[in-house]
Amino acid sequence: MERDYITLTIGKQKNIALIAHDGKKQEMIKWCQDNEEILRRHFLCGTGTTARMITEKTGLPVKGYNSGPLGGDQQIGAKIVEGKIDFVVFFSDPLTAAPHDPDVKALLRIAQVYDIPIANNKATADFLVHSSLMNECYDHDVINFNKNIALRAQSMQEA
Ligand code: PGA
Repeated sequence: MERDYITLTIGKQKNIALIAHDGKKQEMIKWCQDNEEILRRHFLCGTGTTARMITEKTGLPVKGYNSGPLGGDQQIGAKIVEGKIDFVVFFSDPLTAAPHDPDVKALLRIAQVYDIPIANNKATADFLVHSSLMNECYDHDVINFNKNIALRAQSMQEA
């Protein structure tokens, strides 16, 4: 019988996505400057504007996806599903309404489904990047999607 969960490994070098809403971009840039030595050891990507601004201000290489309101959060969510992003720092703005709020919720949800470390404020991000796990491989259990699909298909045939 196949297991309900499969074990995936977050490598020593993390694939980190960086996202900041407009009201939080300066805070994100400052955070990246403060943590540049740590971030430099990992692979970085981010939503379009955030990625570009971080690279301009810090020199860190950050692969840019689309801008958040144009689907960037969804692209990052898809990469989590594919196992290509395994760590997220997302400085969302709790005081400003965003047109792409459903995409933001979707990203938070998919990070939860796939047990991805995700920080949505500076304090959490600080605790995460200063964890000893940043320099180690980390095994975690995520839902066995093959078994999940098989069971769902089977249950709907029986209905
Ligand atoms: P941006 O997108 O980096 O392109 O501004 C971030 C967001 O608003 O989700």
